[in-house]
Amino acid sequence: MYVRGVGPRVAAMLVAKGIQTAEDLLYHLPFRYEDRQNPCPLDELQVGTMASVIGEVRGSGLLDSRKGAIFELTLGQGTRTMKCLWFHAPYLEGKFEPGQTVAVYGKVEPSRSARDFKMIQPQFELLPDDSADAETRLLEAGRITPVYESLGGNRLNARWQRKVVFRLLESLRGSVVECLPGPLLERLGLPDRETALREAHFPPDGTPMTALQAADTPAHRRLIFEELFFLELGLELKRRKMRAHTGIAFRADEPVRQALQQVLPFDPTAAQKRALGEIVNDMCEPYPMRRLLQGDVGSGKTIVAFQAMQIAVENGYQAALMAPTEILATQHYLAARKLFENADHKPRIVLLTGSLDESRKRQARSQINSGTAQIVIGTHALIEEKVSFDRLGVIVVDEQHRFGVMQRFRLMKKPNEAEPDVLVMTATPIPRTLALSLYGDLDLSVLDELPPGRTPIVTRRVPQAGADEVWGFVRKQVEEGRQAYIVYPVIEGSRDDQPELDFSQDETEAAPPKKKTRSKKGKAGALLTGMDDSGSENKLELKSAVEMHEKLRTGPLAGLRVGLLHGRMSADDKEVTMRRFQRGEIDVLVSTTVIEVGVDVPNASVMVIEHAERFGLSQLHQLRGRVGRGAAKSYCVLMTGPRVSQIGEERLQAMVRTQDGFELAELDLELRGPGEFFGTRQAGLPEFRVASLIRDRKWIELAKQEAVKFTAEARAEYPESERARVRAHLKEAWQRRYGLVEAG
Ligand code: ADP
Ligand code: MG
Repeated sequence: MYVRGVGPRVAAMLVAKGIQTAEDLLYHLPFRYEDRQNPCPLDELQVGTMASVIGEVRGSGLLDSRKGAIFELTLGQGTRTMKCLWFHAPYLEGKFEPGQTVAVYGKVEPSRSARDFKMIQPQFELLPDDSADAETRLLEAGRITPVYESLGGNRLNARWQRKVVFRLLESLRGSVVECLPGPLLERLGLPDRETALREAHFPPDGTPMTALQAADTPAHRRLIFEELFFLELGLELKRRKMRAHTGIAFRADEPVRQALQQVLPFDPTAAQKRALGEIVNDMCEPYPMRRLLQGDVGSGKTIVAFQAMQIAVENGYQAALMAPTEILATQHYLAARKLFENADHKPRIVLLTGSLDESRKRQARSQINSGTAQIVIGTHALIEEKVSFDRLGVIVVDEQHRFGVMQRFRLMKKPNEAEPDVLVMTATPIPRTLALSLYGDLDLSVLDELPPGRTPIVTRRVPQAGADEVWGFVRKQVEEGRQAYIVYPVIEGSRDDQPELDFSQDETEAAPPKKKTRSKKGKAGALLTGMDDSGSENKLELKSAVEMHEKLRTGPLAGLRVGLLHGRMSADDKEVTMRRFQRGEIDVLVSTTVIEVGVDVPNASVMVIEHAERFGLSQLHQLRGRVGRGAAKSYCVLMTGPRVSQIGEERLQAMVRTQDGFELAELDLELRGPGEFFGTRQAGLPEFRVASLIRDRKWIELAKQEAVKFTAEARAEYPESERARVRAHLKEAWQRRYGLVEAG
């Protein structure tokens, strides 16, 4: 479609921003609005709030200072004035002329004179004067004006978008195709698509500003619902489609149940029984299982997974378990061997990880291929190496591996063979509504109960100065027969240890959590707001696992058996170290976050995390979950460096306050935003154009319900023509937006 203002060069710039079509452009909504009809008077500003102000340029110029060039602009309204400051901004020289009208947006700060305020680094826009064209004046002055994130430098700025979007909407007047079913819109009281788009970009006079800024106008609600509805509809259809595939109908008769019973080392919790019941039901169905097993750290997911695998084995099939790290794969391998040690039908268990030596890998592959390996445990190597199974019945994977992996496993089965069952495990305590919705193509089982006999973990914050005391405490615990972990953020020097667990929280402390403001905040902004910058220089001050292992071993922990574990050790060395720690031959394990997920040594009762301020909240929670697994009283010590950012502080306080994974997850979601929380890139979750996982939670649930209704019982409500239209839109939207995630 031809849009005035968009030539080939601009089109290329837009494509780089993910805007391929006119529709994409229309769905790039303003991220805030300015009320230029009723601008805020200077004397009504309130310190600490964000405000947009329109004023007349009274003066401007560069000030000299040791901090570099500061540009100062004085805005006036009658007798009141306000100063705006920009740092390192010589480029603003000559931009403003006295008498011009400027709109600025920023945080209201107190100024030296008690009467006046100032703004630091506000966003600004020169308002059109009489010489500007009519269109610009119409769109930017005397109305509620949309403000957009730039789609490419100065050129495709907010002003450009206003014009292009306005023209686009004009040319489409009366011809925007509705994609949601009419009766549904009516029932929910939502506006049609064209109206919604127009009003989200150019709100009618009188629209409440608070509703606009919160994306809570009828127009916004409609667009948010639309986006979520099509996501949920796609997920729902995928689920239904899966039911049509041929799977394996396993038997779970008395002999099989007895086999499970025989190896079970403890009484399962009610939650474990319920989850296993759900899994067994699925496995007995003739279509493939696609189930998510969700449970907080320590809730006992492993045994449930092993039992599912055992059912497959008892039925004459192979079972595979794919873990996120080599250490975890190794641990599961050892645990499985122990579990089945005295089984009547002792299965053959094989480990396959990337850093095994070639001959061991070759042997594992041939055993998998011939079917002699009944239980196969490994890492990514399971899909990377040339592995083919003889008769794969069930696959257990962790959440990070979910996307893409199922596909590959499917390829690994022989043609015409039934599809294996899949159980996805996650320790991320995603709030239930979110889990239900985001994993809409999976059925959900939740372990909402911890095994009995756990005592709460005592969590303390200790500053650097208290280190000696901490080591003394570790020593005392070891003397009482316990073991301890000491975790560092880096292996050696400043290298992070996250290559295996590739959902690293590369979070810069200085960056505020919301992505929209982040790009706007320069270095100067960070300096001014007093937030520390976790840049390269203080990375060098970080203590590392390798160095501290040496120091502790020869210093404060001399005489104890101190081991070292990190991601760059060979598979054999990792295995040996893990084994020795498990057997109690190592008292203190100095490690990196490689032990974050899943490591299970119930005798360990102390978790010391140095530089705790550097870790994300869910990471801290997972690390803490390594202790408190046995009956002994357990401790988590969060040691912090000299500087802790405000967000870091919030995380640490939350850790001390609660041990509830769901509560921490909610907070984490808020602090980090959903993209980072779920690791969007790795998890393959869709990026939303309009909706926000946090802000629009209540809409997710509704969208899900309506999607289910639409697919299931809607024949009466929706005439076939409506249904066809919705399906067509879904097909297009789904393929374009989510198609690469996982087809089929
Ligand atoms: P996670 O859900 O974090 O993977 P695990 O499966 O590692 O948890 O289980 C945590 C610990 O609790 C393990 O030591 C496991 O043996 C033990 N455990 C699990 N279920 C029970 C149970 N029903 N009774 C007693 N201990 C259990
Ligand atoms: Mg586990």
